[in-house]
Amino acid sequence: MVLSLDRQDLLPGTNCPLQRHVSLSAYTSYRVGGAAEWFVMPRTPEQVAAGLDWAHSQGLPVTLLGAGSNLLISDRGLPGLIICSRHLRQVTFDDEAGQLTAAAGEPLPNLAWKAARRGWRGLEWAVGIPGTLGGAVFMNAGAHGACTAESLLQAQGMSFDGDEIIWTPKRFTLCLSHL
Ligand SMILES: Cc1cc2nc3c(=O)[nH]c(=O)nc-3n(C[C@H](O)[C@H](O)[C@H](O)COP(=O)(O)OP(=O)(O)OC[C@H]3O[C@@H](n4cnc5c(N)ncnc54)[C@H](O)[C@@H]3O)c2cc1C
Repeated sequence: MVLSLDRQDLLPGTNCPLQRHVSLSAYTSYRVGGAAEWFVMPRTPEQVAAGLDWAHSQGLPVTLLGAGSNLLISDRGLPGLIICSRHLRQVTFDDEAGQLTAAAGEPLPNLAWKAARRGWRGLEWAVGIPGTLGGAVFMNAGAHGACTAESLLQAQGMSFDGDEIIWTPKRFTLCLSHL
């Protein structure tokens, strides 16, 4: 049997599909928005770095997309490379320190439930917020008198050159607007 399949472009040096003209309406809560010029869903920090590197080499702007629960995207779409974090998933719990470390694409309600099932408190407010952890940190999401900044010890990020950056809430200048 012989099958004819479209060849898929990949981010250079990775097996991460690099797609063109992807409708962003499927990636936002309000189901509106035009197409991304270029679109990737990396699964590892290395693939994120490869995306940044590729966009930089092409002179393209980069936009981060989480769960799309706080975005209204124009019908004209977005230029450049859209990096969607939803496949960046990993959570580890340090029971001794009472700390969890999670990847940017982890859904906030999942983190809240996982913490609660371990008998931990502190993320109850997050159970109804339909965003990712990365989006929550960026927006300082909050509810019921609590917010992300209160629990966040640090965030590990990446510069557009692919260098690692560590942020603390102080450096983010998060305001405790939900208190
Ligand atoms: C039904 C509903 C209920 C909501 N309830 C609340 C609520 O109670 N409290 C509240 O605070 N918000 C609420 N929101 C808004 C929204 O869920 C939060 O702001 C959430 O934190 C957004 O996360 P996201 O992953 O969806 O981000 P997105 O909407 O995908 O992106 C929002 C912004 O964050 C940036 N961003 C996303 N991920 C990253 C990343 N990894 N690195 C850098 N930048 C990133 C994007 O570029 C964009 O500027 C609600 C939304 C809906 C639809």
